[in-house]
Amino acid sequence: MRVRNKPWAPELIEAHPDLIVEKGQEFKGKWHERFAKKQPLFIEVGTGKGQFIINMAKKYPQYNFIGIEIQKTVIAIALKNALEEQLPNLQFLYADGAELTDYFEDHEVSKVFLNFSDPWPKTRHEKRRLTFKSFLKVYEQILIEHGVVEFKTDNQGLFEYSLSSLNNYGMHFDGVWLDLHHSEENDENVETEYEHKFSAKGQPIYKVRAHF
Ligand code: SAM
Repeated sequence: MRVRNKPWAPELIEAHPDLIVEKGQEFKGKWHERFAKKQPLFIEVGTGKGQFIINMAKKYPQYNFIGIEIQKTVIAIALKNALEEQLPNLQFLYADGAELTDYFEDHEVSKVFLNFSDPWPKTRHEKRRLTFKSFLKVYEQILIEHGVVEFKTDNQGLFEYSLSSLNNYGMHFDGVWLDLHHSEENDENVETEYEHKFSAKGQPIYKVRAHF
């Protein structure tokens, strides 16, 4: 998803230092200080406009959530959407998922969500896929022992690639769904923007849950 720069985005971010961190390393190991309660921390890498992470934070007040996004305008839109909700367990981080070890201490995170990540279909762009081995290494480092990664996508090619990448890394599969919306796993499912769009077109949604 590419969005045009919005002139209000940097100003909105600057106006809410209590809700969003801009590539700041000062909270490494101390993210719990930014939340109302110290409780397990779940992150979404590539959060987009925030629908999933906002609804997760509403549904699960017993966990803390951080939406992480590489595009400034996109995360500003997520922040704007979150402002209406006033959630004490939700924060945003404007950063590159490849650099998460700069922002999180080892084992600081309890779960990583990846939703509808950009497929980067060309082989020469493999390293940019959020399920490439270098990203898995980063997640493994910041996650608790046996930490979980959950990944959803409509893209069959990226899904097959990711299953193979996770397996080659030595991750253990807890569940694989080839049509999430017609499975029991859907009972607790929280939709993302992209998921809503693609499933409305009748496309099956793939999901995998795996741990290190
Ligand atoms: N997760 C949302 C959803 O399911 O509706 C957005 C999906 S969108 C296709 C993928 C998002 O991931 C984009 O907003 C993109 O900017 C972001 N992204 C891509 N690479 C990233 C990276 N290395 N670190 C953080 N965000 C990234």
